[in-house]
Amino acid sequence: IKDALKNAEKTKINKLPGLLLLEIGSPTEDVSSILQKIPGIANFFPGFLLKDLKEVKNKLNSELLNHKFKNFRITTQRGDKTFSKTSEDVSRELGAFVVEKTGAKVKLKNSEFIIFVEIIKGGIFLSFKKIKGISGLPVGSSGNVVSLLSGGIDSPVASYMMTKRGCKNIFVHFHSYPYLDYSSQEKAIELTKKLGEYQGKSKLYLLPLGDVQKEIVLLISEEYRIIIYRRIMLRAAEEIAKKEGSKALITGDSVGQVASQTLENISTINSVVNLPVLRPLVGLNKEEIINIAKDIDTYQTSIVKDQDCCQLFTPKHPATKSKLADVEKLEGKLDIDKFVSDVLGRAEIKII
Ligand code: ATP
Ligand code: MG
Repeated sequence: IKDALKNAEKTKINKLPGLLLLEIGSPTEDVSSILQKIPGIANFFPGFLLKDLKEVKNKLNSELLNHKFKNFRITTQRGDKTFSKTSEDVSRELGAFVVEKTGAKVKLKNSEFIIFVEIIKGGIFLSFKKIKGISGLPVGSSGNVVSLLSGGIDSPVASYMMTKRGCKNIFVHFHSYPYLDYSSQEKAIELTKKLGEYQGKSKLYLLPLGDVQKEIVLLISEEYRIIIYRRIMLRAAEEIAKKEGSKALITGDSVGQVASQTLENISTINSVVNLPVLRPLVGLNKEEIINIAKDIDTYQTSIVKDQDCCQLFTPKHPATKSKLADVEKLEGKLDIDKFVSDVLGRAEIKII
């Protein structure tokens, strides 16, 4: 939170039982939209930290003029059990005050307006607004993962899902520059920036696959090329994971979506690595993935036209039912270890 709010003045965070109290010197509109992107925050309440019930009443007096409602409720929580009144007493006392000032009625269910009161040690917090966060777990609390980030729609969404579960993504992107243009790298950089709004500063590996692809073309018939590209990608990603101490690899595969994502091909591709390859989108339909991409604001970047490395030297109709033995036999013609170390040796690392 501190990191994300580094531009807000005098941010102070106080850890209280079951909640964090965030004090910001000069709150800006932005604070809410920033907090809404931080995994681990279920809800938050912009409001005022006051000294005692008298100050709360004064605040209600002035602030309620800005709100119109016919019915309301007060929801009080008491983190400080030593406070002299119970939550119910406080709700009742403040409720009576609001009725007197506004003429509105108390309505406990489906109330039009809710006033939140949180009694903490040494003060009372007052808010008129509950904002939903994205919930999940704080970034890093589940460790880090290596995410294969293409310029497409799916992989940024897959990465986001992992962020939400407390994993920090280290991104790897394969490109075919200079055989293809720089566009896919630009997208990977832009997507890393967007995903950084959720997970903070991020590391992106840009890995050149073009030379390896050029050699593959000479020896491998076209319908198998994508599968072999993918197997090389996973091997390289696993090496990076070892170096970075990551416990899993992440891809944006969803079963049956494209030729390389049949169960047969997923299994052939998967078999080159030992680390678990997690596929958070596996059961989602394209439309569901697109909706998340729009929500997290990666969609517009993903749909920009680019030259993706997987297009290089591949046919319209790749093999959909690859057999591991066939693919292994084909790879026997290639110096795969050298390919992988070549690609890794020319990695460009960016911190974004
Ligand atoms: P996406 O929308 O993520 O590009 P896709 O529907 O185009 O996915 P594929 O092209 O089969 O599906 O890619 C499957 C997954 O493989 C991607 O989600 C991504 O995790 C990984 N991948 C594909 N191409 C690249 C690349 N150039 N660099 C890094 N990872 C890649
Ligand atoms: Mg793709």
